[in-house]
Amino acid sequence: MLRYSFVAISAVAAINLLLTDIILVQILLGLCLATSLGIAIIWPEPLPPPPPPDLWSDAPETKDREMKICSSCGKAVDKKWSMCPYCSKKV
Ligand SMILES: [Zn+2]
Repeated sequence: MLRYSFVAISAVAAINLLLTDIILVQILLGLCLATSLGIAIIWPEPLPPPPPPDLWSDAPETKDREMKICSSCGKAVDKKWSMCPYCSKKV
């Protein structure tokens, strides 16, 4: 869609270039024609397709860290810890 508008701009610029007699306007229209036509040619069409929605569904549900239950307050604590961060007792 954007590509067609650039094609239209370049076509209008080409028509104006043929109709005008002023050198400055001719230079500006030439620049406009070159850039818009260049963008229309270079512009990637269509856009790359969006990634599939199930791309990240393979991620593991479980956490990779081992947990254990604090013996005094009953909260889940990282297995490597020796002290509970909630009740500051020895796990
Ligand atoms: Zn605790």
